[in-house]
Amino acid sequence: MTKETLEKIKKDLITRKEQIEKELAGFTKKDEFVKDNYRSEFPDFGDKEDENAEEIATYTDNLSVEYSLEKTLRDIKKTLERIEAGNYGKCAYCGKEIAEDRLLARPTSNACVECKEKLTSQ
Ligand SMILES: [Zn+2]
Repeated sequence: MTKETLEKIKKDLITRKEQIEKELAGFTKKDEFVKDNYRSEFPDFGDKEDENAEEIATYTDNLSVEYSLEKTLRDIKKTLERIEAGNYGKCAYCGKEIAEDRLLARPTSNACVECKEKLTSQ
């Protein structure tokens, strides 16, 4: 992989990380005690029964969005750490180089296609 490609991937990852952090900030509070953990805030639409039901529905939706954003954020941070450490693009299982087009399509991949297939077919 060329230095330019790596820089491009790094830039894209940082942009995505900022987007996700902004999105999370819209409906969560950052956990003061646990690093990289966010807590969905319980919405307040009112005290009527249908408003309460709506609050619970929104909260439940927010929770699942929160979990998936948190997971992506963790993957991005781990990937950025791998880039900093200079071992980005190597399969975590067999150590081979991951195909560049795979990394461009999914920059947070840490397994080559063969290992991924083995892992998911188990
Ligand atoms: Zn592999």
